[in-house]
Amino acid sequence: MSDTPVVLVTGGSRGIGAAVCRLAARQGWRVAVNYASNRKAADAVVASIVEDGGEAVAIEGDVGKAADIAAMFAAVDRHFGRLDGLVNNAGIVDYPQRVDEMSAERIERMLRVNVTGSILCAAEAIRRMSSRHGGQGGAIVNVSSMAAILGSATQYVDYAASKAAIDTFTVGLSREVAAEGIRVNAIRPGIIETDLHASGGLPDRAREMAPSVPMQRAGSPEEVADAILYLLSPSASYVTGAILNVSGGR
Ligand code: NAP
Repeated sequence: MSDTPVVLVTGGSRGIGAAVCRLAARQGWRVAVNYASNRKAADAVVASIVEDGGEAVAIEGDVGKAADIAAMFAAVDRHFGRLDGLVNNAGIVDYPQRVDEMSAERIERMLRVNVTGSILCAAEAIRRMSSRHGGQGGAIVNVSSMAAILGSATQYVDYAASKAAIDTFTVGLSREVAAEGIRVNAIRPGIIETDLHASGGLPDRAREMAPSVPMQRAGSPEEVADAILYLLSPSASYVTGAILNVSGGR
């Protein structure tokens, strides 16, 4: 079995996740690039990694479905035979709505993808990495949001609440598995230039909100990836339960 560490990045086909996949490969990780439906984008990420001399595989799976999560980790087992890192990056927003306009279906989907999906992926990773299960240890990085602090009033309070759940999950899980060789941390991106905003019906959101950021600009996926790779790496060997704002001061 190869000694080269393996990281699974959920939602690795675009935006922050794609930047994490590319940087992880450059820093010596073998990469499992998960995507929900955009096979072409995931294949392009894999191709760019392979072109640079790295190793990666695209794995389809909707983190809003427990069966897909189990199949995704089984595919990582088959392809790489080990797992050392998990980046719980896949996440969704929705169209701007007040809470008194939201349907049960919307809220349920938001929590299922952003919260249940991340917790189930962490559970699968722990079964492979924890010394309690015979594993060699590892690191988990959860992708939260500054929305967890700010609340996203009139846009998507349900999304903000889902990310606050990720913050609390990060702290609790970090303590639960700290003595089993697994570090668990999170980052809170601010306004980052990705397709996420368009998926919530606000394609110009990053540009429009840039002046309200103390640093007067939106961040890039690569700037977020740098923080995630630090938390994944041995440079963060004594860091667990931390939540790092990557938000230009927002
Ligand atoms: P993005 O550009 O919209 O990309 C989303 C990625 O997640 C895509 O790879 C997509 O796959 C995948 N995905 C979506 N639903 C999925 C599901 N159910 N199962 C598996 N994969 C799924 O988003 P982003 O801006 O990079 O956001 C990444 C993370 O950062 C999210 O957790 C988001 O909440 C967080 N964040 C973003 C910002 C921001 O300003 N952009 C700010 C704070 C936090 P397909 O390509 O197949 O659709």
